[in-house]
Amino acid sequence: MKDNAVIAQTIKVRNPATLEQIAELTVASHADVAHAVAQARKAQAVWQSTSFAERAKLLYGLRDLLLDEQDKLADVLTAETGRPRAEAYGNELFYLCDAIGLWAKRSAGYLRPEKIRPHFPLMWLKKVVTTYSARGVIGIISPWNLPLTLTLGEALPALMAGNAVVIKPSELTPLSALFGAEMAGKAGFPNHLLQVVIGSGETGEALIDHADMIAFTGSVETGKRVMRRAAERLIPVSLELGGKDPMIVLKDADLERAAGACVWGALMNCGQACTSIERVYVEAPVYQPFVDRVVARVRAIRQGPSEREVDLGSMTSETQLRKIDAQVDEAVAHGATVLTGGRRNPNFNGLYYEPTVLVNVNQNMSIMREETFGPIIPIMKVKNAEEALSLANDSPYGLSGSIFSRDKRTGWQLAEGMQCGSVCINDSLINFIIPDAPMGGMKDSGFGYRHGAEGIRKYCRQKTIVVDRLGLKEEFPWYPASEKKSRQIRHLLRLLCRSGWKNKIRAIGGLARS
Ligand code: NDP
Repeated sequence: MKDNAVIAQTIKVRNPATLEQIAELTVASHADVAHAVAQARKAQAVWQSTSFAERAKLLYGLRDLLLDEQDKLADVLTAETGRPRAEAYGNELFYLCDAIGLWAKRSAGYLRPEKIRPHFPLMWLKKVVTTYSARGVIGIISPWNLPLTLTLGEALPALMAGNAVVIKPSELTPLSALFGAEMAGKAGFPNHLLQVVIGSGETGEALIDHADMIAFTGSVETGKRVMRRAAERLIPVSLELGGKDPMIVLKDADLERAAGACVWGALMNCGQACTSIERVYVEAPVYQPFVDRVVARVRAIRQGPSEREVDLGSMTSETQLRKIDAQVDEAVAHGATVLTGGRRNPNFNGLYYEPTVLVNVNQNMSIMREETFGPIIPIMKVKNAEEALSLANDSPYGLSGSIFSRDKRTGWQLAEGMQCGSVCINDSLINFIIPDAPMGGMKDSGFGYRHGAEGIRKYCRQKTIVVDRLGLKEEFPWYPASEKKSRQIRHLLRLLCRSGWKNKIRAIGGLARS
């Protein structure tokens, strides 16, 4: 069980910045989830016959409503995450508005039937088309760090593809998803098309037992459990799992920009983003000036409650706070130096951890190996770009990374060599808010993509339709088999597939004789 107590059939949601209870919600039982999916299935049967234009119109209506209700949205988000209001508008609302624009405009194009021209000339006698259609009911299981982006945001392409959606948000942050579903209802989405079921892991398991596909975002361990359970029903899963994103700073980098991108990329949302910068490798000649710039920027960060004008709020999960505290303690016990931060913020009761810069770290420390998911920037000096890349790739994770260099060629070469799903050159985090570009992980960071064509096609069944063009009474491969047909096939294959003109001429002769 996590931070919020599940007592009998309810979940108590608390504000992590104040530790006060802000809601108590009824948990959905296995039967409730089965019922929700059955209702969603009925709604989907109607929804799948609507046009892309009708779906897009509803999405635009939802966007207008979110903009009208943005203060309420910020209230809900800040209350259950402890984030500053600026982040509610600048990150989640911005993301949703932009993503709605993308999916409303591009879905029809991404899912248009595609004509395929077979490479084998004999197959030109057939018309070949591949089509995309809705899977049915998509189950979305999401974590607590971006409770609107990873629930409502994830539902947008699934809905545009003609599916119904049932969301199981994190038990720590269920209110944002409920708010999103309420807004969708007000915007005119049909009843039961987008539902939220409340609960912990068991509710998630029930959803896997009934939905037609699961889009999961969360930790590696839970991702493996989700996949094992989905395997029992042979339903597809997409897994967006953890990350340990590296940043490389080369000696020719613009240090001011690199330091700014590092601090934002590591501390945005209190470091609780899957693509947060979690370890930094800096070439020796610029190591000290880079560290000085980062420390100066981190010391200037204002941390506090969402009502004030602050840069950083509290963390959202107490379990996570304890984990990062233990990582910092372990690093210090093995020789790391804290240049700023390094402890719970003593000025507040809630889950505040001071933004922290650590140096004298090494690759064996858990702060450099395990996911941190908190406001910590460990910085390590390296000899050269090769060493930086080798250390960056020395990780079970492969979500994203960033590289800073004025040399475009070197930056590109390092980006190609980095073992991860996305790389930013001279930038950080920005790939996540370009929803046109596929985003996914390698290695333990999972598989399947959000965003771009893949981000909507994953919610579809792909079907290939082959149409005969000539209408002959007989086709060559049909029964009966004969020696003559076999000879002809052998000559034909030699003619079409074997290299060299002499061989082809011999095959034509053979064909003529047979
Ligand atoms: P968890 O893996 O603990 O939980 C994710 C979701 O799965 C929650 O809703 C959780 O419910 C639910 N769940 C737990 N057990 C099961 C189960 N057996 N079957 C089905 N569902 C289950 O992750 P956190 O919520 O702690 O989120 C943090 C993690 O998410 C980090 O590792 C982070 O890297 C990752 N993440 C990845 C992103 C990406 O895009 N790659 C983006 C954001 C986060 P409940 O919490 O209610 O128990």
